[in-house]
Amino acid sequence: MDRKANLEQLDQVAEWDVVIIGGGASGLGIALDSANRGYKTLLLEKNDFAKGTSSRSTKLVHGGVRYLQNGDISLVIEALKERGIMRKNAPHLVRDLSFVIPSYDWWNSPFYGLGLKVYDMMAGKLGLGPSTVLDREETLAIIPNVNKEGLKGGVIYHDGQFDDARMAISLALTANQEGACLINYTNVIGLTKEKDLVTGVRLIDQISGKEKTIRSKVVVNATGVFSDKIIALDQPDAKRMIRPSQGVHLVIEKSFLAGAHAIMVPHTSDGRVLFAVPWNDYVVVGTTDTPVNETLEEPVALENEIEFILENAGAYMTKKPMRKDVKSVFAGLRPLAASENNKESTKEVSRHHKITVSTSGLISVLGGKWTTYRKIAEDTVDTLQAVGGLPERQCNTKTLPVFGYESHSNWEDPMHYYGTESKKIKALNPKKATLSLSNKFFISENQILWAIEKEMAINLEDILARRTRCLFLNAFETEKIAPKVAAIMAKKLGHNKTWIKNELTQFISIIKKYQL
Ligand SMILES: Cc1cc2nc3c(=O)[nH]c(=O)nc-3n(C[C@H](O)[C@H](O)[C@H](O)COP(=O)(O)OP(=O)(O)OC[C@H]3O[C@@H](n4cnc5c(N)ncnc54)[C@H](O)[C@@H]3O)c2cc1C
Repeated sequence: MDRKANLEQLDQVAEWDVVIIGGGASGLGIALDSANRGYKTLLLEKNDFAKGTSSRSTKLVHGGVRYLQNGDISLVIEALKERGIMRKNAPHLVRDLSFVIPSYDWWNSPFYGLGLKVYDMMAGKLGLGPSTVLDREETLAIIPNVNKEGLKGGVIYHDGQFDDARMAISLALTANQEGACLINYTNVIGLTKEKDLVTGVRLIDQISGKEKTIRSKVVVNATGVFSDKIIALDQPDAKRMIRPSQGVHLVIEKSFLAGAHAIMVPHTSDGRVLFAVPWNDYVVVGTTDTPVNETLEEPVALENEIEFILENAGAYMTKKPMRKDVKSVFAGLRPLAASENNKESTKEVSRHHKITVSTSGLISVLGGKWTTYRKIAEDTVDTLQAVGGLPERQCNTKTLPVFGYESHSNWEDPMHYYGTESKKIKALNPKKATLSLSNKFFISENQILWAIEKEMAINLEDILARRTRCLFLNAFETEKIAPKVAAIMAKKLGHNKTWIKNELTQFISIIKKYQL
């Protein structure tokens, strides 16, 4: 992916078949499917790929046990199917993970055990393993530091785990390989119309400041929680389609949850579920569901959300996490598709996706989950071929391997998520291949150079938040190593000391939002 060459394509192509606004899970999935079906496809992302909600998830590839509780059966069936497809097409990015529901009442285990048998059955052939009821000793053997007081037993079930931002970058690389043109740091600021029909977009290159108009047969709005802003460019009086809901995660050290299993708390004090999931030698705990009116690019965790997570997670752990134990805190906004009456609380709003077509032909993709990104893309491309009068072609993504596909990844290797590319990155400079710039997480000089050369990383934040996950794992340690990373970047890109100083100032202001 070469940003400069891709910008040049904007001058060379007179009319695109498809322009997609937004480079999160939905937009990237659509770009991949559209390019694979042979349509001339352009994706424009205002910030970096996955800077929005798509790097801030719980990192589960799941059917959603909670939606089963809500009775949203069709969503669970669809998500379980997509979970299996995602695992098959990207085994270097998605792994099986077992979750334990600890139970403190005698009736809890049989109750959840039965529900999870239904969950297993719904997954059919794409199941990741059968759920099992555990007694007290078995539960303690696999999660030694679960709260022992009153523990009766537990239930173990299986779901998937992935690295969301790495999946996004891999999808961008797959779409690029299929012929799509993807450009980060390009903001769509207007829509062009002829005879009341959308004919393209106006964009501004956030780096050079240059404006440009692009023609396209179809325009897709895949901007997540920002969708209403694009809809307003088309129809200023349109009613709001998105109900944003904030979710917060805290990241703590692995010592709080020893072992390889995740914990699922089925009923928190606000009636939701809470996860504590091992991730890269840390544990991610979350999340919350707080309706918000403002859609910020860097959403901020509220005090009561932090307290809620510490309290509810602490009830299940021998060693209770405190504020001082939090290594990173991150917040994301769910782009929930508004319902007719909008009366239910956000935790009750369905996570199903919706695709709308305005009278001027703008296609908007609303709601959905990371797990269902492929199906969202399939449905959107089926719609856009009709709207744009494009030749009808079949979707092939059910069996399309994701960039870097490797059937047997070694998950102990911190670079497993590159799949086949891992060897090439190590070969850039074999002496530095396994040398980490930090002893709190793995980040090598080779990875930084690779991200700049092959993954369209532009600034310090791209490298430390999404090409590697340092910021999300430990924001304090990230602040410490940021000067070293900036110096490596400056040398590679030919930038001077002023660039380093400016990058650090800008990035440190973001890091502070991830520190408690
Ligand atoms: C707390 C939380 C936990 C979650 N956990 C899970 C989970 O474990 N598993 C799961 O399956 N799902 C999960 N989800 C849901 C999942 O993360 C989202 O459904 C998904 O990431 C949404 O992707 P998107 O592409 O629609 O939006 P986004 O990722 O937000 O992408 C939209 C993009 O559009 C860009 N954009 C906006 N305006 C413009 C413009 N004018 N021009 C160009 N680009 C623009 C933005 O910069 C952004 O990058 C979770 C969500 C939250 C909030």
